[in-house]
Amino acid sequence: ISSADLVEPHRICVCVRKRPLNKKEIDVVTIPGKGALLVHEPKHKVDLTKYLENQMFHFDYSFDETATNELVYKFTAKPLVQSIFDGCMATCFAYGQTGSGKTHTMGGDFTGRQQNSAKGIYALAAQDVFAYLSNRKYSNLDLSAYVSFFEIYNGKVYDLLNKKAKLRVLEDVRQQVQVVGLEEVYVTTAEEVIRMIQTGSACRTSGQTSANANSSRSHAILQIVLRRNDRASTLHGKFSLVDLAGNERGTDVSSNDRSTLVETAEINRSLLALKECIRSLGKNSDHIPFRMSTLTKVLRDSFIGEKSRTCMISMVSPGMASCEYTMNTLRYADSVYDA
Ligand code: ADP
Ligand code: MG
Repeated sequence: ISSADLVEPHRICVCVRKRPLNKKEIDVVTIPGKGALLVHEPKHKVDLTKYLENQMFHFDYSFDETATNELVYKFTAKPLVQSIFDGCMATCFAYGQTGSGKTHTMGGDFTGRQQNSAKGIYALAAQDVFAYLSNRKYSNLDLSAYVSFFEIYNGKVYDLLNKKAKLRVLEDVRQQVQVVGLEEVYVTTAEEVIRMIQTGSACRTSGQTSANANSSRSHAILQIVLRRNDRASTLHGKFSLVDLAGNERGTDVSSNDRSTLVETAEINRSLLALKECIRSLGKNSDHIPFRMSTLTKVLRDSFIGEKSRTCMISMVSPGMASCEYTMNTLRYADSVYDA
């Protein structure tokens, strides 16, 4: 994939990213060409080979295991950063099972064990926002950038920039949705944003709010908001970057625990709502079922009007052991792409 492959962005972009194989995995996913992805039997027969019929999928872009976060960014979120300067409401989702690379792609690995490794889409987008802000082309718009970072767990919103304060979501008579009391921090450099993401991400996994909540069971949403420097701080554009909860179904026997079942039902419901909202956006439908979940409620702005832009990056694990989850992920992505 090269710059020449970058097409003029449309309202909904759907891509897939295959993460590198780890030592124990047997590869069943190949990226045969631009936008294509093939699920197949292992190249070398192994014991307990699952029966896998060859299945080919097509999307706007497909990224193989050699793709860097920078490359993925360039084709997915970068055009959306540009769009918020043109007044758009943009959203970029990382979708997939736990362990498929959502956080690596969005947050990068600086939040993890490795040091000075890959920047994620959050940081790359923040860098570009400040580059555009100081660009002469946009300076006459007189804009400032603000950042919010929050988590949705079991349908409840927690502010990652304010000690996981639990917040209420309200809808007014004009159907405007507001997260009451959400911190929106004025930012002037990408480094500030990166520090906030690091603090917020640490707060995300170690919080006490819900006993067994870990990051794979919650959606994390980073919002970069552009406001005019007028008296009302008028909203100009907004970019929501979403690291979704793992889409694996609670099919394992250990999940007959009630709270896990509730969690799983809530995740499934919000991912279904998300799919329906994006599909309605694609069909230019008047009815956007955003009330189906907290996730789609807080993202309501992103699903309505001519100025909506959405990109979904579906992450797949390459291993044979994950193939059912991989197929689920690809079918979901396919139904969004189809819209
Ligand atoms: P998720 O957030 O979907 O649960 P992670 O982003 O935590 O998954 O990824 C799981 C593991 O795989 C992590 O150790 C991460 O560093 C690694 N990983 C994921 N994607 C990549 C990639 N493209 N390149 C290198 N390592 C990756
Ligand atoms: Mg994660």
